[in-house]
Amino acid sequence: MGRLIENLYAVAGSGLTHEWDASAYLVAGDEPVLIDCGSTVGYTKLKANLQQIGYAPKDIRKVIATHGHWDHVSGMALLREESDAEFLIHEADRRQVESGDTDKTAAFLYNEPFPKIAVDGLIQDGETLRLGDYDFEVIHTPGHSLGSVSLYTRIHDLGILIVGDTVWGGFHPRIGSDIDKWEQSLDRLLELDFDVFTWGHGQPCLIPEAKVRIQEARRQLGVYFHPWFKPFYRKFTY
Ligand SMILES: [Zn+2]
Ligand SMILES: [Zn+2]
Repeated sequence: MGRLIENLYAVAGSGLTHEWDASAYLVAGDEPVLIDCGSTVGYTKLKANLQQIGYAPKDIRKVIATHGHWDHVSGMALLREESDAEFLIHEADRRQVESGDTDKTAAFLYNEPFPKIAVDGLIQDGETLRLGDYDFEVIHTPGHSLGSVSLYTRIHDLGILIVGDTVWGGFHPRIGSDIDKWEQSLDRLLELDFDVFTWGHGQPCLIPEAKVRIQEARRQLGVYFHPWFKPFYRKFTY
C-alpha cells in the first residue's frame, strides 16, 4: 500500500490485497473516495489497508467505478454492508452490476459469482468530479467494456491519468469489448496533456513517460488474439 502523491493512495491490487484484485485508489481527505475498490476476495485486506491510512469503511463517501468488472468493483457489495458509500458508474456498465451478470462483469474468469450492486449515480463523459482536493475529469473510454471511463486530474503541475483497463485490458465480446470503439478511446486519451498514468493491473504506481507508453499500447491494440486464455482460477500442468 502506498501513497502515490499527496492525498492519492493505492489501496488495492497486486501485492496489496488479493492477486486477482485490480488496482484501487483512495483520495484521502474529509470526504474520502475510492476509485474502484477491488473484489470480494480482497475486501478484508482492503479494509486493513484503509485502516493503516486512518480510515474505516464507514468513512468512505463514494466509490467511482472505472468500469463494471468483478476484479474492480465486486468488493462494493461488502463495503456496502458497513458503509453508506455511494456507488457511481457509467450508464453502459450499470445493468451488468445491478443484475450480477457473470459474463459482462467478467466474473466467469474467476469462477466467482457477481453480487448484485445497486447503483446510486451515473458518471458521464466530460463531467468534472470533485474528489477530495482535486478535480477529476471523466472521459468515457469504451473498448474493454462499453462503460469504461478514464479519470484525468492535475496535481500541481503533474497531469495524471487513471485508465482502469482501457490500457492493456483484455478483449472479449462476452465482457462487452469493442475493438473499434477502443481505438477511438485511446486516440482521445492521447490528445490529453498528461505526464503519468496508472492502469488497473500490475503494480499500482504512477508510471512515467506515460504518453510514449500509451502510444505503444495504441499500436499493439488488436494485433493478435489468443483463443486459449486460461481463466485465472485454473492452473494447467502436464
Ligand atoms: Zn481488470
Ligand atoms: Zn476489466
